[in-house]
Amino acid sequence: MTQFLYQEQHWQSQLSDLVTNPQELLQLLNLSAEDLLSGAILATEQFKLRVPRAFVGKMQVGNPLDPLLLQVLPHHLELEDYPGFVTDPLGEEQANQQPGVLHKYKSRFLLTLTGACAVHCRYCFRRHFPYQENLPKNDDWLNIKSYIESQTDINEVILSGGDPLTLSNRKLQLWIERLESLPQLKFLRIHSRVPIVIPNRIDDELLSVLKNSRLRIILVVHSNHASELDDFTCSKLNQLSEHKITVLNQAVLLRGVNDSAEVLTDLSYRLFDAGVMPYYLHVLDKVKGAHHFDLDPDLINTIYTELLASLPGYLVPKLVREIAGEKNKTPLFGVSTFSS
Ligand SMILES: *Cc1c(COP(=O)(O)O)cnc(C)c1O
Ligand code: SF4
Repeated sequence: MTQFLYQEQHWQSQLSDLVTNPQELLQLLNLSAEDLLSGAILATEQFKLRVPRAFVGKMQVGNPLDPLLLQVLPHHLELEDYPGFVTDPLGEEQANQQPGVLHKYKSRFLLTLTGACAVHCRYCFRRHFPYQENLPKNDDWLNIKSYIESQTDINEVILSGGDPLTLSNRKLQLWIERLESLPQLKFLRIHSRVPIVIPNRIDDELLSVLKNSRLRIILVVHSNHASELDDFTCSKLNQLSEHKITVLNQAVLLRGVNDSAEVLTDLSYRLFDAGVMPYYLHVLDKVKGAHHFDLDPDLINTIYTELLASLPGYLVPKLVREIAGEKNKTPLFGVSTFSS
């Protein structure tokens, strides 16, 4: 029933009608556990609940352990401190070169145009990041432009989060045109979870903005479980590849959500149905409040070994961790850095 509704409704009205009240979320799923609710209300104070109704519609009613629900429902354990789990695990506060610019790797950098996300993922490493102070204003473009021009090896800009697809098509187009004016840029990457949580975001206007760009467009979505990819979502994702947009997925390995080779195998096959290639499987960043999603390195090793054996090579995502100060995401399997 929710399904019908979200397929019809314009993405912007879905974005302005998010579920933000834990009590409502639990009611929609027919869950009445008091302890779930009181924990959720407490943890909401640190990082608000935010979840599109289209995403709630993909959850299993009556299941408090639904893998989609666990990603978004605030939990009282978020408020507890654990050694090694900190507010800025990646040292991003230091890496900010210009408002909105986060440049750590060669040839590409992250450009944050908005701090807003359509969904709040409880494990997000940016849950404590002071976005609002770092967003570029309209006339910051000239500074960003000079910055790019001063870094001659940059050929790709990555629009990242917040979530760039919460911006209007008009605003996106404006920024794409700005970036297109720099001949050194060849690629435009968009990191977004919106196509998964509000599939209607992939509308004709967006497809035409992306298709008509001179830049090669790579859209990296973020899905952690095959249940996020119902038929409607898959058909929307398929439209992207039909418009010559390369679509990749990054997932985060999360306790209780996708911590088995079987679940990850289903995810890869389902992504492939949707025209999406698995890209990264991230090990959780040690961010304060996300400890309950963490997995033991030995278990990660076992899961990934099984995953390698159960999928064709082209459907195996790269297992990586982000280590502050490294020049790239660090591959974990069979590499000595694994134990860190
Ligand atoms: C993850 C990340 C990128 C993209 O890395 P790829 O390996 O190219 O996907 C770029 N810049 C920063 C700061 C990042 O964190
Ligand atoms: S959509 Fe991405 S950036 Fe936003 S909360 Fe989720 S993981 Fe974090």
